[in-house]
Amino acid sequence: MDPITAMLETVLEEVRPLGSGAPAAYIPELASADVGLLAFGVVGPRGRVFTVGDEDATFTIQSMSKPFVLALALENLGREEVLARVGAEPSGEPFNAISLEAHTGRPANPMVNAGAIATTALIPGADIDDRTGRIVAMMSAFAGRSLWIDESVYASESSTGERNRALAHLLKSYGIVTGSVDDAVESYFRQCSVLVTVRDLAVMAATLAFGGVNPVTGSRVVSERVARDVTSIMASCGMYDFSGEWLLRVGLPAKSGVSGGVIAVAPSQFGVAGFSPRLDVHGNSVRASAFMEIVSDRFGIHLLEPHESVAAPGVSVIETPEGPLVRLGGELGFAGAERVLSLLREITAAAPHASLITVDASELARLHPAAVMVLRTEVESLSPRVRLLV
Ligand code: GLU
Repeated sequence: MDPITAMLETVLEEVRPLGSGAPAAYIPELASADVGLLAFGVVGPRGRVFTVGDEDATFTIQSMSKPFVLALALENLGREEVLARVGAEPSGEPFNAISLEAHTGRPANPMVNAGAIATTALIPGADIDDRTGRIVAMMSAFAGRSLWIDESVYASESSTGERNRALAHLLKSYGIVTGSVDDAVESYFRQCSVLVTVRDLAVMAATLAFGGVNPVTGSRVVSERVARDVTSIMASCGMYDFSGEWLLRVGLPAKSGVSGGVIAVAPSQFGVAGFSPRLDVHGNSVRASAFMEIVSDRFGIHLLEPHESVAAPGVSVIETPEGPLVRLGGELGFAGAERVLSLLREITAAAPHASLITVDASELARLHPAAVMVLRTEVESLSPRVRLLV
C-alpha cells in the first residue's frame, strides 16, 4: 500500500468508531441510508486519486451540487450579475432557513437552499430537462466522467419538497426568480439527486483546488477566477451554520450535503471528499467532518497555515561566460519578488562591470502580475547590465 493511502486508512479507522448523529430524515430515500458506510478520497496535483473505505458506494450529491451550479452561473453570467440575485454573506442559519435580505429578497448566499434555488434559476434552459442537462454536464466535467440522476431520490425529494417550493415562490415574489417557479425548483431537486462516489467528489473538489482545471483529465472546466469565487463562498458559507467554526478547526473551503458527503478544497494541493450518512445537528456528516479535521491538521493543509514558498522562490545562480545567470523556479509572488531584488542588487554589485546578468523567469510555474512589474522596473533601472527573460 502506498504511504498516502496508508495515512488515509489510519485516519479512517480513527473516525470509524464515532457513532453519533443520524441520517437526514426529511427525505425518505435518505433516511434509509446504510449508516455503516464510510469512505474518503483525496486527489493531488498530478491527478492521482487515493480512496479508502467504501469507495464504490454511490449516494446523491445533495447540497454539494451548489458550488458547481454556482460555477456554471458565474461562468455564464459573470460575478456581478450573479451577485445581483444572490449574496455572499454567511447566513448563520440552517440550510433551509428563509434568509432573504429585507426589501430586496436576495438570498444570503448560494450555499443555502434559497440561494441555491436562485442560482439554479439563473441557468438558461428551455425547460427542466434542458436546464438540468447543462447542470449535469458541468458537474460531469468537474468529475471527469458522465454523471446521472437517481430518479427515486429525485421523486422522493420532489414529493416532500414543499419548503423548497415555498422558498422558490418567495423568490419569485421578489423578482429574484423570474421564470417558472416549478422549473426552477424541480431543476434544483434534480441537481441534488445526481449520483456520485467519493472518488467523483474528490476529483470535483480538486478541480476547484487547481484553479478550474480537472487534474485527472487535464481539461479546463471553468476559469481560474470562477474557481476562486466559488471557493471563497465555500470558505465563508459552505458548512451551514457551522461555517465559522469549520474555518477555525479545519481551515478549508468546504461544502456538505445531507446525504452525508463533504468536499473540501486545499488550493494548489488537494481535493478531499468524505462520505458517511450520520449527520450532526448542523446537517454535516459526523465522521466525514472529523476526518477532515484530522487530515487538515496532520497534513498541514489549514488555509491559514503560513507558507514559506510564496515568499521564497527557487533561485539558482550559474556562472556563464557572459556573466551570472539567475534562474527562478516555482512560484514568484510579490513577497518573493522583493527577495529576488535584493539578491539581484548583491550580484550586480559583485559582478565585473563588463558582464551581463541574466534573470531567467521563463521557467516559473506561476508568476504574479505584481511580481513581474516589480522585477521589470528593477531590471530596467539596472539596464543594460541586467536583462530579464520572461
Ligand atoms: N436537496 C436538499 C434540500 O434542499 C439539499 C439539502 C442539503 O444537502 O443541505 O433539502
